[in-house]
Amino acid sequence: MTVSRRSFVASTAVSRTIGDADTDIVARTNTDALLHAAFDADTFRADGGTMLERLAANLEAALHGTDLPVLPLLDPAAMLARWQTDFANGTERDTRTPSEILDALTTRMLADATQLHHAGFVGHQVAPPLPLAALCDLTADMLNNGMAVYEMGQPGTAMELHVIRWMCDTLGHGAKAGGVLTSGGTLATLTALLAMRQARAGWNVWTDGNANQPAAAVLVSEQAHYCADRAVRIMGWGADGLVKVPVDGRFRMRIDQLEPALMRARAAGRQVLGVVASACSTATGAFDELEPIADFCATHNLWMHVDGAHGAALAVSAKHRDVLRGIDRADSVIWDAHKMLLQPALVTAVLFKDQRHSAGAFSQEASYLLDTAHDDAWFDLASRTFECTKRTMSFKLYATLAAYGPALLDAYVTRVVDLAASFAGLLREQPDFELAVEPQCNIVCFRYRPAARAMDDASCDALQASVRRAVILRGNFYPVQTRLHGALWLRTTLMGPFTTIDDLARLLHEIRTVASQMQS
Ligand SMILES: *Cc1c(COP(=O)(O)O)cnc(C)c1O
Repeated sequence: MTVSRRSFVASTAVSRTIGDADTDIVARTNTDALLHAAFDADTFRADGGTMLERLAANLEAALHGTDLPVLPLLDPAAMLARWQTDFANGTERDTRTPSEILDALTTRMLADATQLHHAGFVGHQVAPPLPLAALCDLTADMLNNGMAVYEMGQPGTAMELHVIRWMCDTLGHGAKAGGVLTSGGTLATLTALLAMRQARAGWNVWTDGNANQPAAAVLVSEQAHYCADRAVRIMGWGADGLVKVPVDGRFRMRIDQLEPALMRARAAGRQVLGVVASACSTATGAFDELEPIADFCATHNLWMHVDGAHGAALAVSAKHRDVLRGIDRADSVIWDAHKMLLQPALVTAVLFKDQRHSAGAFSQEASYLLDTAHDDAWFDLASRTFECTKRTMSFKLYATLAAYGPALLDAYVTRVVDLAASFAGLLREQPDFELAVEPQCNIVCFRYRPAARAMDDASCDALQASVRRAVILRGNFYPVQTRLHGALWLRTTLMGPFTTIDDLARLLHEIRTVASQMQS
């Protein structure tokens, strides 16, 4: 059953002009018809079939890279103009059915979107979603089990606890470990650091606040993701709550600089609660050395947190998991499944070596939601997350593990990390390219700097930026950029499950081509 928007609007308008008691009945009938049409199962089935066809065709085109730009770059004003008229004043003119409108919007959405399944998507560290996982999200969305209390999300709660168990086991945490899923690494970091504060501050911050207490701080590498900085400022510790430790030549936190940083912070009156290690850093994919950091934390009685948003996934790779040695000693870890575990955003785990700390992050009493009279209300997961209503984010990851097993994730992670090593090898052979640092995972930073072209640092930076833009406009690749020691570098994260070294050789060729056109 379908109704056109126009016929509905027209009949409502007519009923309004009758102007007596019948009006309400006519209007109600029309409103009911609209509601029935909007919830019609046959329409849903037909719309879903059409949409799946479009998505499957788009997936094929993206995987084959045919006639589909990775990123059809348009300036924001033009994009706004392209999208702003659909419901602004279209009610009278639009005679299409809702199904037709949905299909047109889907088509435009696909045309305007960044294509993460494209072999040339070498930009940000977001997963090309597994089709099965995306389908799970549709089911989760249709059921909309909000997860705030157990009764509102029974299967999601059970799956979440199993997925969390699998993640803890994969990282080598023991039987006492546990945690929760939450909406993204940034929120997960705040959650972990709130738990750290509650466990280590020495007073009850949740009830008594920060007043009249020494200002706290954590140690982080200079290369840490800004989410640590945000968490610290949200907790009220100000800019000095984040004590930056210098990095070595491979952008890893310098172990020998931890102690001096701790002493400096203490001398400045700070109560240092913990160390945030990056595994890995966002810019270059550098893994801080977790064993010596764990030793340092043990010596000084500090909380050890590992930001494994991107890199904790290397634990699923039998070949590459060694880089995480020591992660099992961390008090807390965050791990984004929407980065290297092929999941659609958002789904992030906050894991605790002792899961009782998980309850410390938000130890408020919300008795209307949570059965706080019994501390065995472990199954009401909202007591441990920032969210109240939360998407059923466990289903897709649970189904991925059930359907394909960790073997699929191992195959994917191993492949993209190996590809990065090959890409670094290729870059080293090119006299006109410079590799920033030997990659430790699937993030590779480099720049184009031909010796034949005399360049100062500023014009080298400008060249990278303009080359990047020109490459994107050609449609075959989407690299990003980052600043390292003040200089601009091209940055690639190799996320494509089928991207090859030949694709990357073509990227270098395109960079040379666009650069030579700029020269002339
Ligand atoms: C991506 C990333 C984050 C932030 O995670 P979101 O899920 O984007 O909020 C934090 N830390 C590191 C190291 C990251 O790579």
